Amino acid sequence: MSTEELKTSKSEELYARACEVMPGGVSSPVRAYRSVGGTPRVIESARGAYVRDVDGNELLDFVGSWGPLVLGHAHPSILTAISLAAERGTTFGAPTPFEVELAERITKMHPALERVRFVSSGTEAVMSAVRTARGHTGRDLILKFSGCYHGHADHLLVAAGSGLATFGTPSSAGVPAAFAEQTAVLGLDDTSALEAFFESRGKDLACVLIEPAPANNGLLLQRQEFLQGMRELCTEHGALLIFDEVITGFRLGAGGFSEHCGITPDLATFGKVIGGGLPVGAFGGSAEIMSVLSPDGPVYQAGTLSGNPVAMAAGLATLDQLERAGGWAKLEALGEHLDKHLGPALEANGGTLVRLGSIFWMSLNEGEAPRTAECIADRGVQRYTALFHSLLERGIALAPSAYEVGFLSIAHTESHIEQLAEAVNEVLSA
Ligand SMILES: *Cc1c(COP(=O)(O)O)cnc(C)c1O
Repeated sequence: MSTEELKTSKSEELYARACEVMPGGVSSPVRAYRSVGGTPRVIESARGAYVRDVDGNELLDFVGSWGPLVLGHAHPSILTAISLAAERGTTFGAPTPFEVELAERITKMHPALERVRFVSSGTEAVMSAVRTARGHTGRDLILKFSGCYHGHADHLLVAAGSGLATFGTPSSAGVPAAFAEQTAVLGLDDTSALEAFFESRGKDLACVLIEPAPANNGLLLQRQEFLQGMRELCTEHGALLIFDEVITGFRLGAGGFSEHCGITPDLATFGKVIGGGLPVGAFGGSAEIMSVLSPDGPVYQAGTLSGNPVAMAAGLATLDQLERAGGWAKLEALGEHLDKHLGPALEANGGTLVRLGSIFWMSLNEGEAPRTAECIADRGVQRYTALFHSLLERGIALAPSAYEVGFLSIAHTESHIEQLAEAVNEVLSA
């Protein structure tokens, strides 16, 4: 299909209206296409592996709503679960059977979890886990890594300070410098910097927070020794290790990345997949650590819609498909098909496929796959932007940013993957 034939006038019209009433015309910034340019498609409906925009264009979707849709769009079992739950009432502000069942299931699945609390987003989960770590240790300082994203709580919108200073500086306007000073930031993949930091500040540290498989700046797979060393340093210094599994949790398998790498964090955070496409987050850890939370302990944390029955039902239906209907095995098989087809297509054109289960990143950088955010080159970003638009014209939706990963769902087929690989090869070799 040529650009001339492609109709996008309704998207343009709606987006123009959106810009009159919403900052940037969106409810979350990356949706505005600022890093790739152009007008975002306004999506009207979706089913399986496809989304349909308001002009009626069908797009083969590898965004998957940025991670939650491990079963694809509008999966029948999710729709049924949602409607059955909703008929009984959409929120009670009281305990419900759904949340008890979901909590029982995930505490059995994930190695870090004995107790879990539900919230409504990944941001809330991480924010609350950090507060829990601070309350438990009685320490204020936290450590994070550049290249990891943990949602938009004030103390996590922090970038590495200049020079040798490890305390951070706000990465967003509106974040007080005094907050950022309680957040130290180090580079990924640097064990000696980590050891040096613990040497000087380990006794003040409440927690180390990391995406153990960083997937918000490309996919920056870490060395096992780096993570293992971090686990040991935390234990030695009485700091808690928090794995942010908002992307990897329940997508990689029952026990997320913790099980995958064989390292058990003290606290783990979840979002995305656990809500089956509805707004859910969760965090948890040992009974002892989680006992600091209100009403058992002094750390306050609450939410009007937390543990919402409709959302819990969607989460349960998702786990059913993954656990009982062989979803994870299917995702892994699709991932291997991606290696076989998309891998060579990228390599033939100066790129690399980086994949972890059903999470993939098309790195268009020269040389090896990067392990730190600083290694992602501008040229790779420019090439991705061109690829993004060419694929969109061909009816394939990738995330509108070179730094975002793609997601496979059980609604994808081998032929969808081949279609992606062929299109990528055609565009990059042109
Ligand atoms: C998406 C994400 C978050 C934030 O979750 P929201 O639901 O968008 O608030 C936190 N951590 C990681 C690793 C994420 O990918």
